[in-house]
Amino acid sequence: MLRRIAMGLGALLLLAAGALYYLLFTYGDPAVDPAWAVAGSADPPAGAVTARWTGTSTLVFSDGETTLVIDGWFSRPGPIQLLFGEIAPDLDAIERGLAHNELTRAAMVVPVHSHYDHAMDSPEVAKRTGALLVGSEATAQIGRGWGLPEEQIRVVGDGERLRFGAFEVVIHESRHFEFPDPVLRERALGDPEIREPLVPPVPAFDYKVGVPLAVEVRHPRGSLLVQGSAGFVPGGLSDADVDVLFLGTGGLGTQTEQYRETYWRETVDATSPSRIIPIHWDALFGPIEGPFRGSLRAAGFLAAGSETTLEFLREKEAGHPDLRFQTLPRYDPVVLY
Ligand SMILES: [Zn+2]
Repeated sequence: MLRRIAMGLGALLLLAAGALYYLLFTYGDPAVDPAWAVAGSADPPAGAVTARWTGTSTLVFSDGETTLVIDGWFSRPGPIQLLFGEIAPDLDAIERGLAHNELTRAAMVVPVHSHYDHAMDSPEVAKRTGALLVGSEATAQIGRGWGLPEEQIRVVGDGERLRFGAFEVVIHESRHFEFPDPVLRERALGDPEIREPLVPPVPAFDYKVGVPLAVEVRHPRGSLLVQGSAGFVPGGLSDADVDVLFLGTGGLGTQTEQYRETYWRETVDATSPSRIIPIHWDALFGPIEGPFRGSLRAAGFLAAGSETTLEFLREKEAGHPDLRFQTLPRYDPVVLY
């Protein structure tokens, strides 16, 4: 009898360990078509505007003279630390991330919102590159908590325009995608403000969302827009026509068909790009080098419905033969225009 109980318990433990391993150490399939992958250019022509992608929505744009950074997120706290511990910028990871992007000077770093996976490292990136930290009041508090001087922080609102070299940046207030899980939704989006300087290490949820932004970047050679989270303000992008749209697709498959269609209309139809580059579909917890992975199984909020997301994107691709879909390599520069 005792032996049977012991064996039963052993089997249960094995099962639990297996489930934990599955959740915390394996990844879903990325919600992109492998055929969309483009290679980097070893030697971009002088004056070309290039994009480099680290993963999530961390992007670096440059025309050779001026460099702009979206997010600049390189720390990758693990799921246990994220759920039960406190997190802080990982200085070694930031140093490696800047080196991989060949990033020494930048004019601006703008997180698309103030959650940890966008804004946590931005003040340190600003410190190391001399960039101006741009964002909502919540982003400014993250900068202050990290000791970034006030003259290197710029709080912006809807419609604001900033000039850096030949680039013009236009800020559009946007929305975060709605987490389908009500508990997570309340914790991540319920109270959006950070009311005082945020000094890490802190629990991950202390990085409140702030005001999500869509960032339009205009240049004499071409224009682009970065929509980091799969949310929208109705009519918010009606005056933002661009050539390239960096489209946040994480979690899109968890939303209703109607939501996806509205998101498409409010971002893609509204900005009428000729090229779409999906972003924020890769693992938050995965390695920051090597091939991109889909989300960790445990992070169901982004991974769930990834087949639906891919199906949706493929349908849109089939319905718009004039629209090119591309995914960027990791770190290597790709010529946009
Ligand atoms: Zn977020």
